Amino acid sequence: MAAVTSTILALVKSGAHVILFADCYRRTRQFVTTFLDRFGVSNTLIPPADVEALAAAIRPETRLVIAEAPTNPYQTVPDLEQVAEICREKKVKTLIDSTFATPVNFKPASYGIDIVVHSATKYLAGHNDVLGGVVAGKAGLVSLVRDLRSVFGACLDPHAAYLIHRGIKTLALRVEQQNASAQALAERLEHHPRVRQVWYPGLPSHPNHDTAKRLMSGFGGVVTFEVDGDLQDTSRFVDACQIPRIAPSLGGVESLIEQPALMSYFELSTEEREAIGIKNNLVRYAVGIEDTGELIADLLRALESTG
Ligand SMILES: *Cc1c(COP(=O)(O)O)cnc(C)c1O
Repeated sequence: MAAVTSTILALVKSGAHVILFADCYRRTRQFVTTFLDRFGVSNTLIPPADVEALAAAIRPETRLVIAEAPTNPYQTVPDLEQVAEICREKKVKTLIDSTFATPVNFKPASYGIDIVVHSATKYLAGHNDVLGGVVAGKAGLVSLVRDLRSVFGACLDPHAAYLIHRGIKTLALRVEQQNASAQALAERLEHHPRVRQVWYPGLPSHPNHDTAKRLMSGFGGVVTFEVDGDLQDTSRFVDACQIPRIAPSLGGVESLIEQPALMSYFELSTEEREAIGIKNNLVRYAVGIEDTGELIADLLRALESTG
């Protein structure tokens, strides 16, 4: 989050306007809509992947557009090529949080995105044992972030830096395995009688599949699905899975599973969650690098034993 907040702060000042897709990482949204708002930076939230809404929301004082792909938990992939084009024309900077895609699956700079941030906590470090972030882009922009970072003190400690550096050496291998497993899981879950719906950009049924196919060389390691059942049924299923650990986060070598209604969004009521599309029976599965067949067998066993 220090990478995200330092980058945004380096690029805006009082009076500026920021546009962000409503389904971006919730702490980023919180930072822009509450913190920045207090310092006279206004914002507009636009619907997920809605590039027309983006064009309409740009004002003379708009400085920055913040996007993500794929987003959490519904894996929306906005057409970032169009986003970059619209913003370049209007001289608005583009920031993408590319944590979910990783540099293996998506290369934002080649689509004209100005600045890229990653939570290195996830895939880059890759072992669920470190917190850190990355900012990448043209030297002129990154040096603004570096200066600000020195003032705010968001510095990585040497051991965390070492772990991230070491993790990156196996990034490509891990992500390829995670892409393959997630695709296989998504395909297997999609037609399972105990699963109502699956969201994975690698499935032709995903609303942004065509965009994802054009922009990305892999579809990532996160599969989101709705179990056929209520809050308790879904919890029973999650508990019955034996390989993934029950935890938020993603991107490590071990698979993680979570029920967003009870974890990431636990403080909201069922009604408040429904309003932002987080159903009680929603599950997010972030695959690790375990054997694909074993992951699928474990999932099927858990679905069948709790059905
Ligand atoms: C986890 C995450 C963050 C925040 O990262 P931390 O390393 O936990 O500070 C930001 N953006 C996205 C998309 C994330 O998944």
